[in-house]
Amino acid sequence: MDGAQREILAGNLKRVRERIAAACLRVKRDPREVTLVAVTKSVGPEVMQALIELGVTDIGENRLQAAKEKFPQVPGLWDRTRVKRHFIGHLQTNKVKSVLELFDVIHSVDSLKLAEEIDRRARQLELPTVAAFIEVNVSGEESKQGLPAAEFRAFFMQALRLTHLEWQGLMTMAPLAEEAESVRPLFRRLREMASPFSGDEALLRLASLSMGMSNDFEVAIEEGATHVRIGTALFEGM
Ligand SMILES: *Cc1c(COP(=O)(O)O)cnc(C)c1O
Repeated sequence: MDGAQREILAGNLKRVRERIAAACLRVKRDPREVTLVAVTKSVGPEVMQALIELGVTDIGENRLQAAKEKFPQVPGLWDRTRVKRHFIGHLQTNKVKSVLELFDVIHSVDSLKLAEEIDRRARQLELPTVAAFIEVNVSGEESKQGLPAAEFRAFFMQALRLTHLEWQGLMTMAPLAEEAESVRPLFRRLREMASPFSGDEALLRLASLSMGMSNDFEVAIEEGATHVRIGTALFEGM
């Protein structure tokens, strides 16, 4: 990575942060409520390290194998006090142990079987708790992963008893749309699903919403996103 690329990266990051702030301003939210998760699946370890040096505190990967290869080459990732590693891709139960060894947060819990396996492995690895999001398929598209919206409540009642999981909130992936505006109802629906569990008095809180990617993160923020997962917009022109 040369100086010119570093500058492009810094400029992209600055623009993404400005767009996050502008979206927050439109709906009177504090930009500090929104965590930028830089999705690094399309870039190598050097760019990941550069992002961390530029102040990015949250790194997301969607494939275990890629993380296994890249993470050891990114020294900045291992400063636990500064950087969190987010697993955002589909997770199979036989990969849970490795994912727990490499990541701090899992965004993609979409079945009870998977939640139980995370709970079991966390206990085995003597982790106090694992931060996790429940991934919901709000669009109902068959091709999309995620728990069907209609199963969410039943899932959640069962998930309550898993003591090694620390539920953060809900996650969704909107289908790719030409107009970001067209996915607004899906983001709104996710927020509405979480809202009975968002008050301070709720037994179990689902305070966070992981929603919004490069093409729709501003709409997601207007609808309450607390975590936006952004790749493409950070790496344009590099
Ligand atoms: C790739 C990916 C993203 C980021 O997508 P961009 O369009 O590159 O911003 C976000 N979430 C998940 C689950 C992804 O796989």
